[in-house]
Amino acid sequence: MGKITREKRLDRVKSIRGYLMIYLPEHHRADSQGYTKQHTVVREESRGRLLPDGWAIHHKNGDISDNRCDNLRAFSTSDHSTFHNFARRKAGVGLKACPKNKLEVYLAEWENRTLSDEAIDRMKDALMSWCEDQWEKRKI
Ligand SMILES: [Zn+2]
Repeated sequence: MGKITREKRLDRVKSIRGYLMIYLPEHHRADSQGYTKQHTVVREESRGRLLPDGWAIHHKNGDISDNRCDNLRAFSTSDHSTFHNFARRKAGVGLKACPKNKLEVYLAEWENRTLSDEAIDRMKDALMSWCEDQWEKRKI
């Protein structure tokens, strides 16, 4: 087994449209080239379970290259676009991008207004059982 050179390691990381990608061809979210978004991997490793199909990671501060755990939040893809529509409407920016400096404030508002405690509990239960299932099968 040869040592992995710096060049080889760098080959395994790239940026696509501002997202940091890692070469992990076995990952369940790998693209056709074998690359997976680093934020997905960070989130999954910090939680010890996989991100379900139909879910996406949102960057709370709007910086898509800031993949610290605290900056990541999982959303169903439909809630994710509903949230960004909400934020754009609040900011009055039409179809342009949400202003990054307001994203966290809008997120707090959106969560308070749209999610009841029962809805959150139902969501967590469904998510947990799906994740445990997938984790057991090690579909990663
Ligand atoms: Zn987002």
